Formats: sequence, C-alpha cells, structure tokens
Amino acid sequence: MRRKLIAGNWKMNKDIFEAGTLIEELKTRLKDFRNEVDIVICPPFTSLVVAKSLIKGSPIKLGAQNVSPQDDGAFTGEVSVKMVKAIGCEYVILGHSERRQFFKETDELINAKLKKVLAAGLTPIVCIGETLEEREHGITDKVITTQVKGVLHELVSSEVEKLVIAYEPVWAIGTGKNATPEQANEVHRLIRKLVGQIYSWNIAEKLIIQYGGSMNAQNAGSLLSQSDIDGGLIGGASLKADAFVTIIQAGAEASK
Ligand code: PEP
Repeated sequence: MRRKLIAGNWKMNKDIFEAGTLIEELKTRLKDFRNEVDIVICPPFTSLVVAKSLIKGSPIKLGAQNVSPQDDGAFTGEVSVKMVKAIGCEYVILGHSERRQFFKETDELINAKLKKVLAAGLTPIVCIGETLEEREHGITDKVITTQVKGVLHELVSSEVEKLVIAYEPVWAIGTGKNATPEQANEVHRLIRKLVGQIYSWNIAEKLIIQYGGSMNAQNAGSLLSQSDIDGGLIGGASLKADAFVTIIQAGAEASK
C-alpha cells in the first residue's frame, strides 16, 4: 500500500510572520493527527528557516519550491540544493508548470535539477501535466509520455524509486477547475504504466503519484480515493489551515 503524501505549495505567498501564523494554526489543528499520511509544506525560501524551527515536534515536513541545477558560484539570485538541505528541507518541488511557463524551464533542465536533488538525498516532487490546448487536441498521453521520458532521462531504478511525481494538468492549476477523479486517475495510470515499462513494475507500483490542480476541501475525498492517486500537491487551499487540514483528513480517510 502506497502511503499518501499531502504537500502544500505556498508559491510566492507568506512572509516570515504570516508563515509563522499559518504553521501555528496547522499545528493546533493537527494535534490529534495519527500519522496516517505524510504532510509537507513548501514555503518560499525566505520562510524556510523559521518554518523549520516551528514545525519541530509536529508531523509536518519541509520542502523547497525550486533549486538551482548548479552546486555553487556566480549565479545571482539562485539557491542550491546544499543550502535547502542545510535548513532541513526533505523535499524539493521541481518543474512546476509556473516555472515551465514563466521561467522557461525545460524537461532537460528539470532532469539536471532532479539529479542534484537525488544526489543530495532529498526527495524531488517532479511536476508534469498537459495544457488545456494539448488536452483539447487529444494529445495528453503524448505530452505526458514525452515529459516522463524527458525528466527521467538517464535515471537508474535506484533513483526513480526515491522520487515523487505530481500530475498537474496546467488548466486545473489555480483555476478552480479540477480534473475529475476519473480523468486524473486515467493519467496517473498512464504514468505508472510508463514507469513500469521503462524500469520495472515493482518500482511503478511503489511510485507515489500526487494529483495537483484546484484540489480543495470539497473535492479532495473523491480524488484521493482513486486507485492511483497517492496524494495531493495543493496550492491555494494550502494557504488556509482549515482547508489544508481537511484535505489531510481526506487523505487519512482514503488510506483506511
Ligand atoms: C500547485 O500550485 O501546484 C497547485 C496545484 O495549485 P492550486 O491547488 O491552487 O491549483
């Protein structure tokens, strides 16, 4: 049985003071949490240090939203894997569609970052997903296949078994328009099949594949109870303690 992973992508929201308030609210609401799912928050870089100290003793783990593919040096404005690891991050989101769209990240670049994150012993949450235009043209499977092969290029089995994939249809991110549970599950099954073909069925069966795209307190239960949806990567709803904890509870319920 795959353990569900509920991760909050805070994007460019919450300064250190606001982050502190949200984490305290989460901790209060998670007092009776029985450890049924893994919980991660991914605040902006500037809030990671304060977040790390505040989550101590709670079930919440820490992730970064991005890293540089470089180790160190003259790369103004960039942050390395070593730096986020030193803070205590255990996860790193890579290849989010906003990074692909606004910062022109390619599968090749995401693959380079992925290798660095794995080499540092952190868990990458690698995002893939089709645009609305691609879905309407009936090429979702082709796009997903290209992205899976591109981001996993040259990775060996022992690396692939350590990563998480987030299927995030671009048309569902921040739009309030989620994929139906069946639509999402179909793509999750395709991703698992591809990983099974490239690596092995044993690895594919263990792979955590999250869904992301307007997951909220209302739709989380039906999405998370699908056979191949192993968690959620949540944007907007992770900024509100009540909504995020309701999603965590839906994950716990679906894990029974
Ligand atoms: C995301 O940012 O990964 C995301 C899924 O956002 P939202 O939940 O707001 O659609």
